Amino acid sequence: MAQLYPWLTPLWEQWQAHLEADRFPNAALLIAKPGFGEDQLVSQFSRAVMCSNFAAEPCGFCHSCQLMESNNHPDFHWIKPEKEGKAITVDQIRQCNRLAQESSQLAGYRVIVIQPADSMNESAANALLKTLETPSPSCLFLLVSSAASQLLPTITSRCQQWHISPPEAAELTTWLTEQTQKNVPSYAAHINGNAPLSTLKFIEDDEQKRYLAIEQQLVEIVSQGGDAIKLAKDLSGDIEKSLLWLWYLLTDTQKVHFGLQLSSAVPGAQALAERIEYNLLYQQTQALQTLIEQLTQHTGLNRELLILDWLFKFNGDTCL
Ligand SMILES: [Zn+2]
Repeated sequence: MAQLYPWLTPLWEQWQAHLEADRFPNAALLIAKPGFGEDQLVSQFSRAVMCSNFAAEPCGFCHSCQLMESNNHPDFHWIKPEKEGKAITVDQIRQCNRLAQESSQLAGYRVIVIQPADSMNESAANALLKTLETPSPSCLFLLVSSAASQLLPTITSRCQQWHISPPEAAELTTWLTEQTQKNVPSYAAHINGNAPLSTLKFIEDDEQKRYLAIEQQLVEIVSQGGDAIKLAKDLSGDIEKSLLWLWYLLTDTQKVHFGLQLSSAVPGAQALAERIEYNLLYQQTQALQTLIEQLTQHTGLNRELLILDWLFKFNGDTCL
């Protein structure tokens, strides 16, 4: 059996128990935040279901397993948007519905994976709903999403839901150290939302240097000595990630103000807390939250200018 990421194993074992007992639901929803490598679990699950020898793991040598290996199994369908970031269309879902009603080509199960399920538009979701309401016994639907709240409640209520839980901090650090053979900073997982694969990339790409430089620049700006224009430029290079890092920096700094000492806190939180009043810190954290939402929802904004304006407010100024 292929080696799974260690944080996927607990859920995989639950799924195996359901498969062994022949009571895996016809409609399942897997909720996984980005950076958890859930495709590995989806693939392992599909190969296990399709195998004609074993119930809860792929044997690796039967005809079905070989067809899965070569991505050629006629009863396995992995539905994704035709282009990344686009919607899963109603036509794609109608095609799924036809497949769900047909009988299996190889007399076993059919598996239909829909990922990301939240990229179905409303008419696609409604088309799927009808099929989920009248499940065909040998057809399993597995929906995968990072944002279950964006799915129609009528869809989620039809599915049994499963979550991938983040690994414990110590377990994650051990895994990251094994993978990278590098020193793993105690805050690395924290500022990557405890997502193992995002943290791995952070360490492998030496992103902590960039993080620490951003942190240093912000501390200087708050101390009235920094170059806000330079920092605004640096941040807008990889804006979503950089602003999220700043958000972790500010919220960790708030915790320092409250006297909380967390081992996962970013290194600059203490220095920043010594240089900024709590009220201003609080206002700027709220403003950053709003800015992040604005920039994710609207393209075409002048990002650098908006960030610069936010940075100026640390010194009571504004550029807008
Ligand atoms: Zn097999």
